[in-house]
Amino acid sequence: KFSSAHRLGFGSANPTGKIPLGLKRKGLRIVVTGGAGFVGSHLVDRLIARGDSVIVVDNFFTGRKQNVMHHFGNPNFELIRHDVVEPLLLEVDQIYHLACPASPHVNCFVSLTKPCVLHKTNVVGTLNMLGLAKRVGARFLLTSTSEVYGDPLQHPQKETYWGNVNPIGVRSCYDEGKRTAETLTMDYHRGAGVEVRIARIFNTYGPRMCIDDGRVVSNFVAQALRKEPLTVYGDGKQTRSFQYVSDLVEGLMRLMEGEHIGPFNLGNPGEFTMLELAEVVQETIDPNAKIEFRPNTEDDPHKRKPDISRAKELLGWEPKVSLRKGLPLMVSDFRQRIFGDHKEGSN
Ligand code: NAD
Ligand code: UDP
Ligand code: UDP
Repeated sequence: KFSSAHRLGFGSANPTGKIPLGLKRKGLRIVVTGGAGFVGSHLVDRLIARGDSVIVVDNFFTGRKQNVMHHFGNPNFELIRHDVVEPLLLEVDQIYHLACPASPHVNCFVSLTKPCVLHKTNVVGTLNMLGLAKRVGARFLLTSTSEVYGDPLQHPQKETYWGNVNPIGVRSCYDEGKRTAETLTMDYHRGAGVEVRIARIFNTYGPRMCIDDGRVVSNFVAQALRKEPLTVYGDGKQTRSFQYVSDLVEGLMRLMEGEHIGPFNLGNPGEFTMLELAEVVQETIDPNAKIEFRPNTEDDPHKRKPDISRAKELLGWEPKVSLRKGLPLMVSDFRQRIFGDHKEGSN
């Protein structure tokens, strides 16, 4: 059976899974589902720069053509409009499976009006991509989430923690959907021998993030730029750990190329309350930005911080970009997208 691992010369001869320096490798054929989204498009940039052929599969539910338009015309790049809930036939070496709206609050549309869209994407979409991986012998990487830990009773969260998730709550289409996706991934590994990798991604931010999907970093940055108050939900003492997108992409690629299945936490262990995040946004964009408190959403996790010892040890990975360094890097992108050619504050 053909597999990307054999092609790259991995296996016992190269137990670290690292590509030896100087080894000339042939470009791979790689599918990135959800490649027109925030994380996917940054991953595509890196894969194309490395010399691989990339096929993006996206239904543009939350992604945008603009995120990958700079590759149009490149013979190594292809874009397919396709919903992963439908079967897909392709011949590839690796599958990065990202397709899934990242936020359970996507304009309150997916989770509240059409919850099954999100759940179906996670379950049926993942099943189809695993079926594809099985048929062609491709290596499959699932982008799971820290949400599988729910409102965690263990802090920081290690991969061995099984989580505290409400199976019938408003967020469960996302949390439980990803938990099922992890289960399917392991079933295909154990039952069909598919080579799999699982990443549990913690809150990630950066340029090309959806401006209005309701996540806290995009909300605060857009609000500060528009001279609107920063909306802090609840008392603002809940915590999250924010990772810059380039760190995540590096982690995903190391995981795919390495020898370990995971799951691996990929996140920045720097932990901030929402009030502290608001302060960093004030320092970065507008010291006069006001804070407005709003009621918090149901089942909101109180704290979240990854234990990344496993990724450090087995992937040789850790984040490099702190929140104070990373936040300014997304501001010009947001300014451009919000104000277009106009100067800040002109609308
Ligand atoms: P995103 O919403 O920007 O990207 C998701 C992409 O998937 C979009 O381009 C969207 O159009 C596409 N998509 C959605 N449903 C689809 C379907 N049925 N068929 C084909 N394409 C579909 O989100 P993102 O932040 O780039 O997240 C990428 C992945 O990482 C997701 O699986 C998400 O769950 C995971 N993740 C992200 C974060 C984060 O903080 N960004 C945290 C944890 C996990
Ligand atoms: N599948 C796909 N592309 C492929 C192979 C399979 O989309 O190249 C889908 C297929 O339609 C099925 C799912 O993946 O719904 C699971 O496939 P598998 O062969 O594991 O299961 P089966 O079809 O035997 O139930
Ligand atoms: N949040 C906030 N203001 C906003 C949006 C979100 O205070 O405008 C809070 C939210 O209640 C949660 C945290 O920020 O406690 C992170 O929310 P997000 O949706 O970004 O990520 P997730 O909850 O999925 O980790």
